[in-house]
Amino acid sequence: MAAACIFCKIIKGEIPSMKIFESEKTLAFLDIGPLSRGHSLIIPKYHGAKLHDIPDDQLHEVLSVTKKIAIAQGIENYNVLQNNGRIAHQLVDHVHFHLIPKPNETEGLG
Ligand code: 5GP
Ligand code: ZN
Repeated sequence: MAAACIFCKIIKGEIPSMKIFESEKTLAFLDIGPLSRGHSLIIPKYHGAKLHDIPDDQLHEVLSVTKKIAIAQGIENYNVLQNNGRIAHQLVDHVHFHLIPKPNETEGLG
């Protein structure tokens, strides 16, 4: 845990979030600025800024949960995105995977 980290605060419940899934090692919640309806973030509870800071067991569970959310929500078309470093558009320095559903063009944000 890092005291100043937004996502660690979400894990601790100090900042509210719309949770989708929680286990001992992993948390998934809706993105506050969704790129499409259902855009979610899946994070390890272990605080690490970048992908290479995360132990393999945490990483495996985060990816497994990402897959299970896509299956449970019946999402057929989606992107999984994971940014590392400012130049690569990382804004929050706690590893997170974006699960971004790609709706039909007629659906939009709804
Ligand atoms: P990044 O650019 O670091 O890959 O993405 C960070 C994501 O975190 C953005 O999509 C942004 O909307 C989301 N985000 C930032 N602060 C919060 C917050 O307090 N709550 C939630 N639910 N999402 C956040
Ligand atoms: Zn953190």
